[in-house]
Amino acid sequence: MRKKVISFILPIYNEEGNILLLWKELKNLESKLKNYACEFIFVNDFSKDSSLEKLQKIQKSNPKSVKVISFSRNYGHQLAVTAGQDLASGDAVIVMDADLQDPPEVCLDLVAKWENGFDVVYAKRRKYKTNFVKEVTAWAFYRILSKISSVEIPVDTGDFRLLSKRVNDEMKKYKENSRFLRGISSLVGFKQAEVLFDRKDRYAGETGYTFFKSLKLAIDGITGFSVAPIRLISFIGSFFAIFSFIFGFGYVIASVFLGENISGWASTVTAIYFLGGIQLLMLGILGEYIGRIFIESLNRPLYTIDHQESRL
Ligand code: UDP
Ligand code: MG
Repeated sequence: MRKKVISFILPIYNEEGNILLLWKELKNLESKLKNYACEFIFVNDFSKDSSLEKLQKIQKSNPKSVKVISFSRNYGHQLAVTAGQDLASGDAVIVMDADLQDPPEVCLDLVAKWENGFDVVYAKRRKYKTNFVKEVTAWAFYRILSKISSVEIPVDTGDFRLLSKRVNDEMKKYKENSRFLRGISSLVGFKQAEVLFDRKDRYAGETGYTFFKSLKLAIDGITGFSVAPIRLISFIGSFFAIFSFIFGFGYVIASVFLGENISGWASTVTAIYFLGGIQLLMLGILGEYIGRIFIESLNRPLYTIDHQESRL
């Protein structure tokens, strides 16, 4: 009988210090998944260090099970995973980080749940082990997103997850450039389950998610799955309209009946600046959505592959 194939997708950006240990742990995992055939897809997202040479060596000695593809520039984590998904031939796909923050042994639980009939099995973080600021912002982001998004996006889950072949195939139909894969995999539906795990510290190197990359991901997540910020504009607008009407009416009453002419240069100027600020902020929110429409309307290809080492 044909063995089921599991494809592992590993996005790589400057991970030279992690690749050897990662590979050792993946081989160890492969030996525990005896009843399956494993395929490892490394997507080199234009690393500037010696990651590619290390991957090429691994690929040479394991030509059957290892594929390496290299992007023509740095496209970011979400698109690196997307390229891996496009290439994966497995009956299931497991997406995991290459810095050993996602412990490979958790994959055994993911596979077990998949065999129990679930199509998406996501690994949920029991506790965080990053820096404090990242911890608090991530905590808040996940909760805000899950409150306002049009689909149920589980909190405290990253991209570490198993996707069945049919979910992977469905996800390939989503062509948006500003990708938020966790949202898309929720959007696809099917039976979903969680597995709890303790996220470890990054083994070597530094995070490739700079502040701006993380911010972009957060904005893509929110604008791609919710129009709540636009509703917020109408809400705030209505609030100020009603408030100013009542306030103005109060002034008229006070000056006509009580003869009081209230002076208040400071409060007037403050109100003008405050409302000006709010208006710019609201324009910015609208702009985010318009920018998204613009980018998507260009319909550009998602990524460009420079070269690949594999027998495909
Ligand atoms: N990564 C990538 N391209 C990037 C940034 C990161 O492919 O531009 C990869 C990185 O090599 C890692 C995964 O995405 O395998 C997660 O990135 P990282 O660990 O830097 O993010 P963090 O865990 O700090 O959020
Ligand atoms: Mg990491």
